[in-house]
Amino acid sequence: MKRLALLGSTGSIGKNVIDVVKRLPESLNIRLLSTHSRIDLLLQQCQELRPDLAIVSGLDLERDQRKRFSDLGVEVWSGCEALEKAAGQADYDQLVNAIVGAAGFLPTLAAVRRGKSVALANKEALVIGGELVMQAAQTSNAEILPIDSEHSAIFQCLMGEAHQTIRTLYLTASGGPFRDLPASEFPAVTVEAALKHPNWSMGPKITIDSATLMNKGLEVIEAHWLFGVERDRIQVVVHPQSIIHSMVEFADGSIKAQLGLPDMRLPIQLALLFPHRLDSGLPHFSFHDHPQLTFAEPDLQKFKCLDLALKACDAGGMSPAVLNAANEAAVQAFLQRRIRFDHIPPLIEEALIVHRSGGKVDAEGLLASDRWARKMVEQRIAQQGKF
Ligand code: NDP
Ligand code: MG
Repeated sequence: MKRLALLGSTGSIGKNVIDVVKRLPESLNIRLLSTHSRIDLLLQQCQELRPDLAIVSGLDLERDQRKRFSDLGVEVWSGCEALEKAAGQADYDQLVNAIVGAAGFLPTLAAVRRGKSVALANKEALVIGGELVMQAAQTSNAEILPIDSEHSAIFQCLMGEAHQTIRTLYLTASGGPFRDLPASEFPAVTVEAALKHPNWSMGPKITIDSATLMNKGLEVIEAHWLFGVERDRIQVVVHPQSIIHSMVEFADGSIKAQLGLPDMRLPIQLALLFPHRLDSGLPHFSFHDHPQLTFAEPDLQKFKCLDLALKACDAGGMSPAVLNAANEAAVQAFLQRRIRFDHIPPLIEEALIVHRSGGKVDAEGLLASDRWARKMVEQRIAQQGKF
C-alpha cells in the first residue's frame, strides 16, 4: 500500500488522481489533500477519503473553518508555506504534485531533498528550477516520475535503453484550438474560444498555454531537465489527434512511440504504480476509431510563445524562470479580460529582454526573478491601459 500526499487535489489532475486511487484501493491510499481556496470541495474530499492532513494554501483559516476539518478527524494547515512544510515533514511515501504554477517549485524541492518519490504534474517546478531539482534528486536518490503525458511517453520509450543511444526526443503537440486560425485573427480570440481545447479537458492556465503553444515550450524545458537531453535534440511535432503521446529516436534510426487515448488517468496511474502495471478498468483504445494519424511542423512565427520558450531554454540561468512567471502573469490577465490573446507573447518577450541576467541560480535567486517578471508584466499592462 503506497501512501500519497496529493497537492492540488481540487484541480483537474488532482481529481483524476483521486479517480485512479479509487480504482486501485488495494494499492493506493491518500494521506494528504490540498486546495488553494476551494474549501468546500476539499471538505467533501476529506469526508470521502479521510486523510491525516488537509492544506488550504491560499487562505488563513478562521477557527470555525478549522472546526469543520477537525470534526472529520482531519488535521488542517493553512497559509502559503504549508505546502513546502508538508512536503518536507509529513508522513507519506510519494508526493503527487498537481498544483498549477510556480507555487509547485518549493514543495517539489522539499520532497526531493528528503529522497521522496515524486509523481510530477507540475511542469513549472522543472521549468523554473530544473537544474536544482535534478541535482537534489541525484544527491538524495529521489525518483521523479512524470505525469505530463508526453514525458510519461518518453519515460516509457526509454525503459531498457542506454542514455547515450538517444538521438532525438519528439514531443507531440495537438496544436491547440487555433492550429488552423490565421495569426491575423488572434486579436479577436475570446477567453471562451481559448478555453476550448480540442482533445484534453484541463485547468484554465494550461488550457490557455495549449492555445498559445507555451505549454509545449514549457514541456521542452521539462524534458531537457528530466531526461538530461540537450535542447537541440528535442523536437516538437504537431500531431492533432493526440494519440501518439511522444516518441524517441535512437542511434540506429529506430523510433519508439507510446500510444493511447488522451486520458490523463493513464500517465497518472503509471506514475503512482511504477514499476507495476494493473488493469484499473480504464477505457481501451481501438485502432478502428483512429484510422488516421497525421504530423506537421509547428509554426514558430505564428506561435511566438513556443519560440520564446526554446530561446529561454537555450539562454538558461534565470531565463526559464522569467519566461514562466511572465507567462503566468500574462495568462492570468488574459483570463481576467485585462489583455488580448495576442498581447501575451510580447509581454513575455519584453520580460526576457529587460531582465538582467546574472545572480546566483539558487532557489532564492530564481524566485526573485519570478517576482520581478510578474511585477514587470503587471506594470506594463497598467501602462498600456484598457485595450
Ligand atoms: P487546475 O487549475 O485544474 O488545478 C490546480 C490545483 O492547484 C488546484 O487544486 C488549485 O486549488 C491549486 N492551486 C492553484 N493555485 C495555487 C497556488 N498558488 N498554490 C497552491 N495551490 C494552488 O490545474 P491542472 O490540474 O490542469 O494542472 C495542474 C498541473 O498539472 C499544472 O502544472 C499543469 O501544467 C500540469 N498538467 C496538467 C494536465 C491536465 O490535463 N490538466 C496535463 C499535464 C500537466 P484551487 O482549487 O483552490 O484553485
Ligand atoms: Mg503535456
